[in-house]
Amino acid sequence: MLTLDTIRTAPKALLHDHLDGGLRPATVIDLAREFGYDALPTTDVDDLTAWFRRGADRKSLELYLETFQHTFGVMQERDAIVRVAAECAEDLASDGVVYAEVRYAPELSTEHGLTLDEVVEANLEGFRIGMDRAAAAGNPIVMKMLVTAMRQAARSVEVAECAIRWRDAGVVGFDVAGPEPGYPPTRYIDAFDRIRREHFHITIHAGQTFGLPSIWEALQFAGAERLGHGVRIVDDITVQPDGSVHLGRLAAFVRDRRVPLEMCPTSNVHSGAAASVVEHPIELLRRLRFRVTVNTDNRLMSNVSMSSEMQALDEAFGIGLGEMEWLTINAMKSAFAPFDERLRLINEVIKPGYARLRDTAVRVAAPH
Ligand SMILES: [Zn+2]
Repeated sequence: MLTLDTIRTAPKALLHDHLDGGLRPATVIDLAREFGYDALPTTDVDDLTAWFRRGADRKSLELYLETFQHTFGVMQERDAIVRVAAECAEDLASDGVVYAEVRYAPELSTEHGLTLDEVVEANLEGFRIGMDRAAAAGNPIVMKMLVTAMRQAARSVEVAECAIRWRDAGVVGFDVAGPEPGYPPTRYIDAFDRIRREHFHITIHAGQTFGLPSIWEALQFAGAERLGHGVRIVDDITVQPDGSVHLGRLAAFVRDRRVPLEMCPTSNVHSGAAASVVEHPIELLRRLRFRVTVNTDNRLMSNVSMSSEMQALDEAFGIGLGEMEWLTINAMKSAFAPFDERLRLINEVIKPGYARLRDTAVRVAAPH
């Protein structure tokens, strides 16, 4: 079994993490005080931490999403967004994450008059500050932003255009998030068209709580390059009593085309999409060699980090360093950063990092 220390030291890449799902509880309280937000359920750090986690583990995506009103609630001013984004970069870097795409829906921070562009600018500025601090602390990280449109809102075209405007400043793609039933990907087709015509990137939350039709639409109508969660693709896979496996057309397409699955095991347990990590479809999909990646989703609400998710998988399935490296390279290959940047991280950071760890493990096991 891998120790948490080893897992933390290992380089990791993260493709699915929400800025408003990863605040430090103490920062939520600080920002509420600073900007006069008086709706927090408590101003005690421990109580608030417990409240967020209790609120998340209710086996329903809709209930899970309710807790976010207090995180984006305190992210209505430029300085607040800059601070949250900088701390996000620092927290990920100190956990051994070397590349992260963190997403945020700018429309959530417009209640006090910020524009979509001002929100994205503040988010990117925070990433820059956080990257500088992390590099100075000896944990360099590359931070990119995904711009999300909320399913319930009607601003997806505007948000997509905003994402495109910031593409050369650190935004690498566009996403749609929020409740799935009643909000299929085809509803946002104009926004996705806009993105594709500009040769920009699309990932969509699909197949998290809603099944195969959502995945089908995301891939074949909206042009998604990756699937946010995508867990329900298992509904198109049959495992026979003798252990042989049959893939339906959609599952075969996803595997053949190497469509990356941004899987978030603990978050799926909390939102009711999987019963437990041990029973999570990630194990079957990993064994069948789908392009599986491991992600945090919401570090605050689900009480996870990249390291704790890897540790949970190691405990449940004994993935070891070899599979951790495979999952990390999968993520890096699937990233929306330019090819040369991905290649540099794989060859100069990830592979040497795992080689060093394996070396150390061999020396510890055989001291002669
Ligand atoms: Zn998500």
